[in-house]
Amino acid sequence: MTDRTTQHKATLAARALGEVDAATGEIIPPIHMATTLQRDENYEKRGGRQYIRDGGHAFTQPEAVLAALEGGADAMLFSAGIAACTAAFQALAPGDHVIAPDVMYHGVARWLEEVGKHWGLEVDFVPAGDLGAMKAAVRPGRTRLVWIETPANPTWTVTDIAAAADIAHEAGARLGVDSTVATPVHTNPIALGADIVAHSATKYLNGHSDVLAGALIGARDDEFWQRIRRHRYLNGMLPGAVEAWLLLRGMRTLFVRVRQASASARAIAEHFAAHPGIERILYPGLAGHSGHAVAARQMRDGYGAMLSLCVRGGAEDAIRIAKACRIFLTATSLGGVESLIEHRHTSEPPGTTTPENLLRLSIGIEETADLIADLEQALAAAGTS
Ligand SMILES: *Cc1c(COP(=O)(O)O)cnc(C)c1O
Repeated sequence: MTDRTTQHKATLAARALGEVDAATGEIIPPIHMATTLQRDENYEKRGGRQYIRDGGHAFTQPEAVLAALEGGADAMLFSAGIAACTAAFQALAPGDHVIAPDVMYHGVARWLEEVGKHWGLEVDFVPAGDLGAMKAAVRPGRTRLVWIETPANPTWTVTDIAAAADIAHEAGARLGVDSTVATPVHTNPIALGADIVAHSATKYLNGHSDVLAGALIGARDDEFWQRIRRHRYLNGMLPGAVEAWLLLRGMRTLFVRVRQASASARAIAEHFAAHPGIERILYPGLAGHSGHAVAARQMRDGYGAMLSLCVRGGAEDAIRIAKACRIFLTATSLGGVESLIEHRHTSEPPGTTTPENLLRLSIGIEETADLIADLEQALAAAGTS
């Protein structure tokens, strides 16, 4: 086999690192269902494992693929993206200070407010992407984790990962990056200085809207990483074997799916930028987006497949357009092969700052022209243009 270090990540993903069962020659692994392992002839645990919560054989290959795609020392699968994100916070101690952005996946923000603070974490939310505010908020020696999400849902605000890593490290803190939307196709946060990367594998990594799973990738296998591993074990935050297998299968097509969806997203953003029914488009790939310059530096091969349309009018106009779509499905979530459209203000909890005229689009892999035509007819049918 060619040296893995010289292969493009798309090749590593397609071949799932090229693992072939030596005994049978099968190029696709079986689903490893066992929850318990027999001890070896010396009555020792095999590979340090005896029970599924230790991390079973079902997870070995998908975790190795994830570590390779992100350039990390190790990876861990979780039962959900939110379990992966919150495991990093659970490895902290009461009294530790953390910083998180004010624009981020709302579930993690809710966890910090309702659980993290209750358990004694001190949490400061700072304006997403604002490095000055981040610098002012860090408390050297007290801040243990700086959390960012880039591009951040649902405004796709971009944060400079390398600069955020510098700020965190100068204060003695780690930088965690929720890179669900960027995916390893566009960005590798560890190469830019991040200490830990989180993914909702439910989204692009699996890509078919049929698996709930999450992942963390660590830059180093250190004491913090081992504490997270311990929390995963003690809290039982692991996916099932079938989910792990489906995720491995989904990741084989990660690069073709994400490249196609991102190219469509960019074409859609450019096509509708001057549309009379649209007030503005939020997409890091457009030169007018606040994060475009940073995104151009830290994203490659496109700017992601998520964008938001702020339509002319209010919530009712936006919902009317969503309902008039025939190809875009009116559903939440993202990262699947099918395109979705969602009125985020309706989906988010009371008090959300998401504009009422915002429609969030998750672009799938349908033909670009069909997606553009669907939005054109929906805007016309809703009578906002
Ligand atoms: C969906 C999502 C999560 C949570 O992931 P689940 O798999 O739904 O638990 C976290 N972060 C981002 C950016 C997401 O889109």
